Amino acid sequence: MQLIKPAASRGAMGHALALFGLWAALLPALPAATTMPTVDPTTAKTTLAQRWQAVTSPSITYENDQSGGGRLFAQAVPHIDPYVHDIAGKVGRFLYLSPDEVPAFERLTLKIFSFDGIAWKSGDPPHITVAVSSDYLLRYHREGGNVAEEVRGILFHEMTHAYQHANGMSSSAVEGVADLVRYCAGYIPTHFRFAGGHWTDGYKTTAFFLAWLQENQGYADLAYVLNQSALPGQANNWSWQSAITNATCQSPDTLWHQYQTWLKANP
Ligand SMILES: [Zn+2]
Repeated sequence: MQLIKPAASRGAMGHALALFGLWAALLPALPAATTMPTVDPTTAKTTLAQRWQAVTSPSITYENDQSGGGRLFAQAVPHIDPYVHDIAGKVGRFLYLSPDEVPAFERLTLKIFSFDGIAWKSGDPPHITVAVSSDYLLRYHREGGNVAEEVRGILFHEMTHAYQHANGMSSSAVEGVADLVRYCAGYIPTHFRFAGGHWTDGYKTTAFFLAWLQENQGYADLAYVLNQSALPGQANNWSWQSAITNATCQSPDTLWHQYQTWLKANP
């Protein structure tokens, strides 16, 4: 009798079996029709996943003006809770090493309505509000843009604001980190990357510089270190100079010049 079913019939059970392979190997033979053993909630991996989920699953109040742009949002996001919680979970794991570090909040109000601009986040834990402009989504659609991709990118950016630390941090860094997360999630194409500008320009210009440091220069924990540099309760003396130097042991000016040289070679 087999301990493990043939691969062709294993399907979704394969992952669980891999996790419990050693444990399963110690068991007496199971009949082929036996259902899978229940996952042990004390298993470290399971508990960690549950802990991440607990700190990135606020209860969501969803308001949609049902305008043309509002309906475009609803088409892009038919199931609000799993969609937003998925993004929140990814943002949390990007900014933090442990769920214990996450500044979790209880409630998220997500509003889709008509206003100038693209999107914003307001409030602090326990209640945060994120708004997306229905006018902007309609305009984006009419110009031929992919609204589903744009909505997801916008929410990666705004949910980063919801979870990031920003104590004393310059707005260019706050927006740069939000776009860094959006870029790393796959929602800022590199054709937006240009030579020139300054690392304090914020948004994409800053994000691409941070991404280059993180992906090409080996500072894999840059987003984490930058975020930790703005922890609440610390002295409010944040500066780009100290934040980048603490993370890389080099000055931002030196790194920026290296980045510009790299950009010219890698347009
Ligand atoms: Zn922003």
